[in-house]
Formats: sequence, C-alpha cells, structure tokens
Amino acid sequence: MSEVRIKAIVTKVIEYLENDKLLTLLTEQGNILVKVRGCKSLKSKLKFCTAPLFFGEYLLSYTKGRYIVMGCDCIDSFKVIAEDIDKFYVSNIFREMAYRLGRERVEDGLLVVLVKELSELSYSNINPLLAAINGMIRIMSYAGFGINWGDCSICGNHISDYFSLESGGLVCSLHQDATSERLSESALNLIRALTFSPEDIMEIDYSIVSVKEILNVISKFFTYHTESKLKSVSQYISILI
Ligand SMILES: [Zn+2]
Repeated sequence: MSEVRIKAIVTKVIEYLENDKLLTLLTEQGNILVKVRGCKSLKSKLKFCTAPLFFGEYLLSYTKGRYIVMGCDCIDSFKVIAEDIDKFYVSNIFREMAYRLGRERVEDGLLVVLVKELSELSYSNINPLLAAINGMIRIMSYAGFGINWGDCSICGNHISDYFSLESGGLVCSLHQDATSERLSESALNLIRALTFSPEDIMEIDYSIVSVKEILNVISKFFTYHTESKLKSVSQYISILI
C-alpha cells in the first residue's frame, strides 16, 4: 500500500453500494477514479469532499490497483456557485467539458484552466451567460481547438458569417463547407464584442437568442473534435428564456 497527496477537482460522482461513492477526479495528469468509503453516513468525515466541483488536496491510498480516499484538505469548494441558477448550470458545462477532456492524456493546464474559470464565475460579477461563452472558448483553446472569430480563416475576407466546424471558426460564403452554418448578425456582433473588446464586457448588449446560438455552435465544435456530446449545454439552453 502506498499513499499519495494530489490536487484535484471532482468532475463526476457515482453512488456506489450502500455507503460509498466513486469520484472521477481531474488531476494535473488527467482523470483518475477514486473510491470514498462510508461517505454517505452522517458521521463520515469525508462527506464534504465528494461534491461535484470540490477542489482539494486528496490523500489517496493505492491498494490492489485502486485509489481510496483517506483524507482531504479543502482548497475551494466553489459553494457560492450553487446559490445562482445560471452560475450552477454554467459550472456544470465547464465540469462536463473537463471530465470529457480529462479522459485523454492531458497536460497539467486543464486543471488550472478549470480552476480559473470557476473562480471567475464564483468571485467576479461577470454575467454567467457571457462567462459560459468565454469559458467554453478558453477550455477548447486549451485543448488545442482555438476558434477563429475574425475574418475568413481561408481567404481573410472581412465578411465571414459562416461557422465552419472543419475550419475551426468563421469563414466567408465562398469558403463555407458541409460542416458550416450561418450565424445571425446579432450572434456575430456578440461574439466579436466578447473577443475583440473584452474590456467592455459589462456594457455588452446581447439577446438570449444570440447567446443560445453561440453556445450551440461551440458545443457542436466540441462534439466534432471529441466525439462526445455536451448534455450540460442543451440542459442550460432549455432553461434559458
Ligand atoms: Zn473566404
């Protein structure tokens, strides 16, 4: 039996047997699966570190090919997120993206990016809708799928109003392909404002419809590259009015 201390965020929780839970932890090396024994009992001293998005330093023992949680020091529980419905849904999008990306071999940056996005969501007065767009773009970019929101990726034409999954961003009508869809003018204005004038984020004028349109297109882009659908995005879109 060996013990290890590791910084990690909970990205998935599964109820296991009567009293245990299985957690997927995003560590600096990607996902690991750990077991927390007896954490559903009221007396459990480990209950606190089994919530989704709990960020802590976990003490793990490695026995018979499995990690068991022996203790944990809280770094940040991001509890304030749960007090706001929009923030809650947005954090769930970041959690699902990190969980899916963490299954691949990752560099240590993914944990850092996730912590940064959750901290901004928790402790700044950023609008959660805009935080969702910005955070998704930054997480994708970290994963090597940066998106071009400027002129046509292929010819540089200023009139680029199609989003191409294949080209990884905006293209002109001449260079649109089978993976492209046309974005509305209001969605384009919103994404350009967010990308090119982020300092004016508090004054950005936007409609819910254009936010939905952008979240949808980024979600499709994620699926195109990772072959996994983001349920959390459709869940959030379904409650946005
Ligand atoms: Zn073009």
